[in-house]
Formats: sequence, C-alpha cells, structure tokens
Amino acid sequence: MLKKSSTIISEAQALRKKAEDKLKKELNITGSSENGSAVKYLHELQVHQIELELQNEELLNTKEELETAIKRYDDFYDFAPVGYFSFDAKGTILEVNLTGSTMLNLDRSNLVGLKFQKFISKESLNYFTLILMKVFGEKIKGSCEVYINPEEDLSFYAHLQFSAPIAGTKCHAVVTDITETKRVANDLSQTRNYLEQLINYASAPIIVWNPASEIVVFNKSFERLTGFKTQEVINKKLDFLFPDPSQERSKAKIRQTLNGDFLEGIEIPILCKSGDVKIVLWNSANIYDNENRTLISTIAQGNDITSRKKAENALLESQRKLELALENGNIGIWEFDVRTKKFLFDGRMNKMISLGNSPFDRSFKAFERLIKDEDVKHVNEAFRRTVVDHEPFESILRVMSDEGGEKYLIFKGKLYEDEGEPSRIIGVSFDITGMKKGSEQTLFKLNEELTRSNKDLEHFAYVISHDLQEPLRMVSNFTQLLNQRYGDKLDENARDYIKFAVEGSERMFNLINGLLAYSKINLRGKEFRMVDINGVLDEVVKNLRYMIEKKMAAIKIVNMPALYADRSQMIQLFQNLVSNSIKFSPDSPKITVNSEEQDEFYLFSVKDEGIGIEEQFFERIFQIFQRIDRVEEYEGTGIGLSVCKRIVERHGGRIWIESKRGTGSTFWFTIKKWEPANP
Ligand code: ADP
Repeated sequence: MLKKSSTIISEAQALRKKAEDKLKKELNITGSSENGSAVKYLHELQVHQIELELQNEELLNTKEELETAIKRYDDFYDFAPVGYFSFDAKGTILEVNLTGSTMLNLDRSNLVGLKFQKFISKESLNYFTLILMKVFGEKIKGSCEVYINPEEDLSFYAHLQFSAPIAGTKCHAVVTDITETKRVANDLSQTRNYLEQLINYASAPIIVWNPASEIVVFNKSFERLTGFKTQEVINKKLDFLFPDPSQERSKAKIRQTLNGDFLEGIEIPILCKSGDVKIVLWNSANIYDNENRTLISTIAQGNDITSRKKAENALLESQRKLELALENGNIGIWEFDVRTKKFLFDGRMNKMISLGNSPFDRSFKAFERLIKDEDVKHVNEAFRRTVVDHEPFESILRVMSDEGGEKYLIFKGKLYEDEGEPSRIIGVSFDITGMKKGSEQTLFKLNEELTRSNKDLEHFAYVISHDLQEPLRMVSNFTQLLNQRYGDKLDENARDYIKFAVEGSERMFNLINGLLAYSKINLRGKEFRMVDINGVLDEVVKNLRYMIEKKMAAIKIVNMPALYADRSQMIQLFQNLVSNSIKFSPDSPKITVNSEEQDEFYLFSVKDEGIGIEEQFFERIFQIFQRIDRVEEYEGTGIGLSVCKRIVERHGGRIWIESKRGTGSTFWFTIKKWEPANP
C-alpha cells in the first residue's frame, strides 16, 4: 500500500516535470523565474492545465486499449470451437455464444430465455436435470453427456461441463459436440469386439503372451488343442505348455520372440492336459507400442500337425519298407504314358534291362528293340489288352543279359485313367530267369518221373490184360462146354447162371482187350511212316462192312492226305470214330469224314447226324471206361474214345467234340505234320 502511494507520487512528479518542460519550451524560458507571486501562480496554472491535457490523452489511450481487449474477448467468446452457455437453476439459457446458438440452430436473441431441456432428447432429459440439480444443490462443478436433437438432421451428442454456480443463481457450461469422438470410440470398441471374436473363434489355435512370457490370450481352438481352459492358463508362464525333453529348446525359441524375432513355421511340441504331446507348427508376430516401440505382446498361431507328422512318418516308414522290398526283390518300377507312348524306368529297371549307357529315347520302338523279336508280338498284345480291354498288364519278355545270354523278365502293371481316358500304366518288373531255369528243371524231372510211372502203369496194364486173356478164355470156353455137354441135365436156373457167366466173361474179355489196346498205344506203338489216309479208310470200311450194311450207313470221305503216322493206330482211330457214329445213329446214318491241311497240322473231322451229346459230357467221354448212362442200350466198354485220344496225342495233336443232343456230333482231331526223321 505504502509502495503503491509512493509510486503514485513519483508518477505525479514525473507528470509535473513533463508539464513544466513543455511550458518552458512554449514560453522559451530557460532558467527558473523568480519574478513575483502572480507570475508564479500563472505559471502554476499553466502547468496544471498542461498536466490535465496530458492526463486526458493517456486516458483516451487506455480507453482505446480497453475497447480493443473487449472486442477480442467477444470474438474469443463467440467464435470458440465449443458452445458457452449460462443457465439458471432451472436450465433457462441466460447467455449463449455464437457457436452455442449455431449448435442449437437458433438466433441468440431467440435462444435466451428458452429452457435448454427443450433441445435434449427424451432419453437424456432426466440425466441432465439430475446433474443440474446437483450442481446448484451442492454448489459444485458437474458434467454430463446428452443427446441433442433440435432437428433430425442436426442431432448430435454433447458433453456438458458445468462450472460451480455463481452467486447461487447461474452457472456456466461448456458444450462440446462429441458425436465424432463417440463414433470413433464406438468403431474402436466394435473393432476390438470383432477382433476378440475372431481370435476366440478362429479355427487356428491362437495364443498371446506378454514380455514376461505370461499368457494373456488363449483362444477356444487352443483350448481344444490342449484340453486346458482359458481361465486355467491366463497369466501363467508359457513354460508349462512345453513337454520335458524339448522344454529348454522351446523356451529358447520363445525368448527369441521377446528379443524381436518372430517364429515362422517353427515346430514346437505342446504338452496337453491329458499328458499327450502334440506337434505344433508356430507363426508369430510382435506387437509394439506406437510411441516408443517397446514390445507389448507376441501373438502366435499354431497349426496342429501331429496327424500329418504321424502320416508322414508312416509314409516314410512304408517307403523305407517298400524300398527294402524292391531292393531285395530286385524289383524295378516302370511307367508307360499311354498318350505320348513313352516309358519311364527307375534305376533298378534300367539295370534289369541292361540299359547301361546305351541310348534309349524312352519310346515304344526303342523298348521293342531291347526285347527279343519273338516277344514283340506278345508285348504289343499285352499293351493292347490293358489299354483297350482294361485288363491288368502281364507279360513275360526276354531281353539280352549283360553276360550275353537271355534274361526272362516278368512285367506286371495296372492302367490308370485320367478323366475316363486311359492315361498311364504303372508297373513293376522282376527277373525270373533263375526261377524259370529252376522250374524248367523241376518240370523236366517231374515229366521224366511221370513218363516213367506212366510206362510202368502201361506195362502193368499190358501184362495184366495180356495175361488175363488166357485164363479168362479158359473160363469162358469151359463154361460154354459145360453148357453144351450138361446143359440138358441142368434145370432152367442153372442154365441161366451159366448164360450170365458166359456173358460176364465175354464182357470182361472185351474190357481186357480194350485195356490191352489202350496200353499198347505207347508201349507197342509202331514207327511213323508215310501213310495214305485214303487207304486207311478203305480198310476201316472193310472192317466195319457188317455194321455198315446192317445199319445201311452211307459214309462220305473227302480230301484225305498222306502223312507220317503209325498206320495201324490210324486205322484204330478212324475205326473207333466211324463205328461210334454208326452205333449212336438211327438206321441209314450219313457219316462224313473230312480233312484240311493247316500250317503245322492236318485237321480231321468225323461227322454224324446221330443222337448227339450234351456239352456237360464233352470232357468225360474221352476218359477211359466213361460212358453216358442213357446209352446203356448201346453196346460198349467206354474205351474207344480214350484210345482215340491217346493215339491223337501220340501223334502230337488233340481231339475234341462239337455236338448237340439230338442233332448229331462232329469229332475233330489234329495230327501233327512230322518230319520224316523226327517223329
Ligand atoms: P463206347 O462207345 O464203348 O461206349 P467210347 O469211348 O467209344 O465208348 O464212347 C464213350 C461214350 O461217348 C459213348 O458211350 C457215348 O455215350 C459217347 N459217344 C461216342 N461217340 C458218339 C457219337 N458219335 N454220338 C453220340 N455219342 C457218342
């Protein structure tokens, strides 16, 4: 206070000094005047007047400054980016700045006096009233958020910040439009929501840990993967998820992420709640603080590859086994592209066909050149059967071995299709040369043994049937003698018995004779000579004359050749067939004997129009002692056709029948064309 009055005094003194200086200058007075008191008063007056003038000038300046400041304040007030309102305790608007009136879309003059509640949505009304009551009631500051909707298209969310009431009658409020802030906040929370849902329900297991390696997010898929529930693992250190043997290694990998690295397709095993271990492939990303780039967390996605790993291991295992089998079995693999007609061979296959370094352009032609000429036809046929008839590929081929000899390779394969079209044959091949030689030897031995035992059997049959003939004949002769001499002394029954005995021994005689003939074919067969079959048939007709005449048979003979054969056996063969044709036909049978020359054989046929045979008996009738039940009425032993078969086979041919019951039969047989020196 003291200081202040002294300042005023010094200011007044300064003003007086200023006024005196100005007066001296105007009057051109240089020293101080000491001329009497009138002059002194005048001087005082003049100084005072000037003092006043100066004061006035300063006042004017200050006023101007004040007006400028007020104007500036008004501008600040009106053009502030927020609305300024003054309310009384009931919410009546007492004052409002320009922004506030623009917010409510009404002139300031119209707004003042209105209640602010008029502009608030119904939902926000109670809230606003409550806060206003609190501000005025408790004389404190307050704030609230309300929804303003003066008109539909101007609606917005407002934040109101109330000052404490002034003199208990009015308070100021700053009103801020927070629509945009609210929208951004909404968007943000929606995005966070999406993100949480996405992470939580993503099909991939997702986990997030903080720089202290503590789990902060553990999604549902991770729950399924491990069997742990989120609440059991949240905030726990990751370590418990890593099984023992590889735990340190896994932890080291996690540490790397904390140092800024990320995991990319890294295998880290996971220990499940059940104690099972699962193999998981990890990918991770680090999340940093935007401002100072410090690590906030690491998010990682796992991919359970346990079953894939198992399948891979199983595949590897079976590949190893397959390789072992292929290696030990020396099995080659080949592939043939049906469209390009090119081959693909694996290493073993190359070796097997002795390809070595020789050029092989993988073409079918080149493949044909590798195999024996005689086998080319079979190979082509095998490929045709597979590609056209879709049959499995199978063929045995001969190729030249490294040592210069022949090698037998078996090829087996399967056809694969592409969109319904044959595309490739994939197959295996292995060398069967050793096997073949072995089996040829075994076969040869077996054959030898069979021939020997056959010969033994034939000999046995021959001896038996030959030696039995004599005693049998005796039995038959003496029985007949008994009948002749003592027949009239015997009763009817005894005579019948003798008759049965004679018939039986006759049948037996025929059987033995047949067996003898059968066993004699190979055993007593004659050397092959040139035989004219016309002559053979002449003799047959002569031998069968009685039968032919009796049945009035017509025998037509066409085109008979001359060939190398056992003549008597040829007679036996044709005689058996022709006599059968007559026997198994009704009276006046027509029989045709024909022949045809082929490359390596002569083909003969004996055709009748007799009773015929059902197909089911076609094989059986060529076996020894086999007859068909329904022909009991026809005499016979069931040896004839088996004899024919033996003769034909001795002559390098085969015999078969074509027949239909009731329409006749044709017996076909071939006789090989023998070289004179080598029957
Ligand atoms: P067999 O004539 O002594 O019965 P085969 O061995 O000659 O014995 O014939 C066997 C069987 O074949 C005969 O019993 C008969 O059923 C049948 N057979 C043979 N030739 C003919 C033929 N031409 N027509 C119909 N059946 C025949």
